Amino acid sequence: MPDTFIRPTAQASYNAYLAHIRQCRECPAGPDRCAAGQELVRVYLTDVRKG
Ligand SMILES: [Zn+2]
Repeated sequence: MPDTFIRPTAQASYNAYLAHIRQCRECPAGPDRCAAGQELVRVYLTDVRKG
């Protein structure tokens, strides 16, 4: 099950997302992420899938 690993590319994308969360006012507060946060999540999920 290689998909259980977080690959380096996805890890970098996830780190970028975490960095955004730390300095974003909207993402941690509301039920929904801001547009930038959503984009970072989308990129992260894309990286996870393509490995
Ligand atoms: Zn945000």
